[in-house]
Amino acid sequence: LLRPDGSIAPTIFAEMSALAARTGAINLGQGFPDEDGPVEVLEAAIDAVSAGKNQYPPGRGDPLLLEAIARHQHRFYAIPVDPASEIVVTAGATEALAASILALVEPGDEVVVFEPFYDAYAGLVALAGARLVTVPLRWPDFRPDHDELRRAVTDRTRIILVNDPHNPTGRAFDQETRELVVELAHRNDAFILTDEVYEHLMFSGAHRPIAALPGARERTITVSSAGKTFNTTGWKVGWLIAPPVLVTAILTVKQFLTYVNASPFQPAIARGLDLGEDVFAGIARNLAEKRDVLVDGLRAAGFAVSVPDGSYFVIADARPLGFADARELCVSLPERAGVVGVPVTAFVRPENRSDYASLVRFAFCKRRGVLESAVDGLRRLS
Ligand code: PMP
Ligand code: GLN
Repeated sequence: LLRPDGSIAPTIFAEMSALAARTGAINLGQGFPDEDGPVEVLEAAIDAVSAGKNQYPPGRGDPLLLEAIARHQHRFYAIPVDPASEIVVTAGATEALAASILALVEPGDEVVVFEPFYDAYAGLVALAGARLVTVPLRWPDFRPDHDELRRAVTDRTRIILVNDPHNPTGRAFDQETRELVVELAHRNDAFILTDEVYEHLMFSGAHRPIAALPGARERTITVSSAGKTFNTTGWKVGWLIAPPVLVTAILTVKQFLTYVNASPFQPAIARGLDLGEDVFAGIARNLAEKRDVLVDGLRAAGFAVSVPDGSYFVIADARPLGFADARELCVSLPERAGVVGVPVTAFVRPENRSDYASLVRFAFCKRRGVLESAVDGLRRLS
């Protein structure tokens, strides 16, 4: 990440958002919504500020939010969670992942991830001095081969890091894969770190957390983020749920990362998590319509598409349009189509890039009219 001249390479998201800003192209690169989420959540934050919730909250999080997270896990997944000892509120899912990895991983340990992977995973594993071991998810269905997963997990594995639903592929894992992860974690005495930030952005069937599986909870850290569910990515409210002994270890790191997190947003997210099931269903339904607009539009423009089960991302293959190098295409896409996307190679280790060279990730968490304009632009490619 450090360039020869000592400067720091920006993340792919910063780079592509800058490209969109510079060219005026529609930004389907970095994943963030372009409209607000439930008004109850926004008003609750304003109320909290007015009520004077403006000083440091407790390090583990505002008890109102801890209790709402516990209620949420019980209501949606029938998982009992003790709000006082098994939850930590964090600065987005990113801090939950960072504190977990830094607390549990020693230099030289191995962390198993599915590739392509969210870019922060490799950075965090490197910060911990650990080694990243990858299990490929291959175009077009992006399902892991179970033998490859078995071979990747060994007694050197400290953490199996699962992202379900998955960024960038949009794939939800199947239950057999989740069960195999639990079995391999047991057999090799590894922890499971499961990043479920897109848990409510599912288009067919409900999300099923790994922690609900028999024998999983005692070794699983479940991470989520309010940013995705409630369109509040800028609030950076996330959390982790883990057994008390792991929470204690993770808090020792977290106290020196951020100490505590923004106080007025915590009761506001508590309000969101307590909203009715119709609101959660509406969030997923609304996003499913947007997915369809972009998937249909990409196909009409000549891309091959892997239809996502969840998240707000879709991967498209540019080969049918005659483009073999998605990075090159993404750099010229603002000029050719007035759109910005992210090359999937940004989520892949350098040595594996050739397997993903022609794939582009597009985000569809945008207003319908914006997606329709993007689709019109993409049609100019053929
Ligand atoms: N994990 C995944 C898979 C993500 O897509 C994101 C959002 N970019 C994050 C973690 C980070 O979430 P947050 O903004 O809550 O830190
Ligand atoms: N999660 C979003 C994405 O994958 C944003 C990531 C970021 O800006 N770091 O696009």
